[in-house]
Amino acid sequence: MAGTVVSDAIYDVAVVGAGPAGAVTAYAAATRGLSVLLLDKATFPRRKVCGCCLNAHALSALAAVGLGGLPAKLGAVPLTRIELAANGRAATLPQVGSVSLSRDAFDVALIRAATDAGANFRPGVTVKLLGRDAGGWHLDAGGPVRARRLVDASGLNGRLLNPDPVVSPTARIGAGTVVDHPAAEYARGTIYLGAGRGGYVGLVRLEDGRLDVAAAFDAAHVRATGSLAAAAEAVLREAGMPTLPGVAEWKGTPPLTRRSREIAGPGWFAVGDAAGYIEPFTGEGMAWAVAGAASLAPLLTEADGDAVRAAWRAAHRKHVVARQYPCRAIAAVLRSPRLCGIAVRALHYWPAAAGPVVRQLNRPLAAVPAVAPGGI
Ligand SMILES: Cc1cc2nc3c(=O)[nH]c(=O)nc-3n(C[C@H](O)[C@H](O)[C@H](O)COP(=O)(O)OP(=O)(O)OC[C@H]3O[C@@H](n4cnc5c(N)ncnc54)[C@H](O)[C@@H]3O)c2cc1C
Repeated sequence: MAGTVVSDAIYDVAVVGAGPAGAVTAYAAATRGLSVLLLDKATFPRRKVCGCCLNAHALSALAAVGLGGLPAKLGAVPLTRIELAANGRAATLPQVGSVSLSRDAFDVALIRAATDAGANFRPGVTVKLLGRDAGGWHLDAGGPVRARRLVDASGLNGRLLNPDPVVSPTARIGAGTVVDHPAAEYARGTIYLGAGRGGYVGLVRLEDGRLDVAAAFDAAHVRATGSLAAAAEAVLREAGMPTLPGVAEWKGTPPLTRRSREIAGPGWFAVGDAAGYIEPFTGEGMAWAVAGAASLAPLLTEADGDAVRAAWRAAHRKHVVARQYPCRAIAAVLRSPRLCGIAVRALHYWPAAAGPVVRQLNRPLAAVPAVAPGGI
């Protein structure tokens, strides 16, 4: 995949990281007429630890940038139920407005939308910052690259402009795998969530029938059980859910809950996980990434300075940070096996009690800037 090559060799914007945050920023910036270079160290599709659920918030953010038709086009699976299990107790909640979709398909499609809009994409290059002068940034991206603006969308692992994030001392680590031939008990259209003392595991069928498994564990639980696979098995057993025999290839992440010290500076902005992240139980990270990218793109057409940086901090607070509060509250309940057991038991008898939380998490976006022409 490659878009328009800029002949005068200085791009308006270089976007580092081609996950949802970077690809949507590149798409929305290119659609606004900016010359954009999108860069990623990976070649796509790449493996990404993720629960692969796009909630109503994510879908409305995609629609706002003109990519609302993309999940259905890729065969995303509508999700109608959530099955919660903890301490051998279970509760079933209705779910509306969410879909499951593999990151393989989703990320590649977003990059294609960016290149179709005119962005140039360069995969397989680990970007290093060389410096900045009056003309803009000098990057090493498998060769010299120049850009007036830099967008850091390098994700949780990114160290581009925030080498020293504030990591929560109680942060859990993420883990995930994809099961090719899953047990029939895990049905299409349902999100399964099992919580135990060492963490929680979420499972959902993807559009091609595989089972995506994503988890957050205490590091001590992984050390005690010996591996990510054993850690997941212990949580699933404790929750009373079917285990995943024979699944070997797990991938881990660094500690999840973190905040970047700064999300904007002279000539640069951070977006998506690179701007901060919290535990994923509520499946919101892609919504924050897309909503953040949609809010950032219009600012890339404005002159650099304090005003545009303040505008980005305000937009990030409104579209991302404000939405993270309910997720923090749920993560806190999940840390306490006792509270978690009480919650599942209560929901078993009174599923409607989850209504306000589910509605809050699925609340569509109010005012993400629209990208009108040429959407999907
Ligand atoms: C266990 C778990 C479950 C989750 N479940 C869900 C869910 O169900 N729903 C949901 O919405 N979200 C979920 N998330 C969150 C979601 O995966 C992330 O929030 C989302 O991927 C963030 O997108 P991003 O574009 O910011 O970063 P990423 O998708 O991580 O992309 C960053 C990219 O930057 C590239 N990169 C990094 N450094 C460099 C460099 N120096 N040079 C070039 N490229 C670089 C990487 O290769 C990568 O491709 C989950 C996360 C975890 C850990």
